[in-house]
Amino acid sequence: MPATFHHFGHDVTVYERGGHVGGVWAPENRYPGLRLQSTGDFYYFTDLDSVPAQFTEENPDAEHVYGYLLSYAEKHGILPLVQYHTTLVHAQPLYDDLEIIPPRDGSEAAADDAGGAAGKGITDRPPVGWRLTLRRAAAGRGAADGADAAAEPAAAAAAEEDEEFTVSCDVLVACTGTFSDPNIPPYKGVAVTWLTLSCKAVLPKA
Ligand SMILES: Cc1cc2nc3c(=O)[nH]c(=O)nc-3n(C[C@H](O)[C@H](O)[C@H](O)COP(=O)(O)OP(=O)(O)OC[C@H]3O[C@@H](n4cnc5c(N)ncnc54)[C@H](O)[C@@H]3O)c2cc1C
Repeated sequence: MPATFHHFGHDVTVYERGGHVGGVWAPENRYPGLRLQSTGDFYYFTDLDSVPAQFTEENPDAEHVYGYLLSYAEKHGILPLVQYHTTLVHAQPLYDDLEIIPPRDGSEAAADDAGGAAGKGITDRPPVGWRLTLRRAAAGRGAADGADAAAEPAAAAAAEEDEEFTVSCDVLVACTGTFSDPNIPPYKGVAVTWLTLSCKAVLPKA
């Protein structure tokens, strides 16, 4: 998605909660044995005309899927556009030449609960822009794909606070994925341990 917008000359910024591109396949989300259920000849961007060179196995493992996604992002000039460890915490639609119309009862929360504009009865036209509230984590600040993610001096980073800031944009594209947040089922009699953002392991109680 960012590659396409970037290709057509739009000013693109990618806010990524983690320290890498790749989402499910990123290093911080991997667990042993994670690999594509799809075959590699099925799982690649259609602007490439052949199976990625990284996919040497029929069902490539997560490391190779990440390697492919990283090289794709590099090839399309996306990596410099990514702000890592930056979480979108709130998205406010803007109407009427970027003036924010307050919710009917004056509360921000009411607008959130009602899905923003829908709660204000403005359902017949799209927003003209968005005001985004983002939180950049102090820990890990500076880590990035293609750089040494551990290079950030831990002590210096720990001394800093998370930083919250707002930006405005014309178009918001949410690419937050279906498996970004844990959903832990309440299994009785077992301890459930999260290994990553995207997977879970059910372990017998010791
Ligand atoms: C174990 C597993 C195996 C899979 N196997 C296959 C397969 O074989 N074939 C197939 O087609 N699909 C498979 N999938 C589905 C997989 O989700 C997709 O292939 C693909 O990774 C989805 O990409 P995505 O970019 O939409 O979402 P994701 O890969 O989930 O990426 C979403 C990104 O958004 C970030 N994010 C989330 N919330 C915020 C926020 N508020 N602010 C900033 N950033 C945020 C996350 O950190 C993450 O990096 C599998 C999924 C899992 C979990």
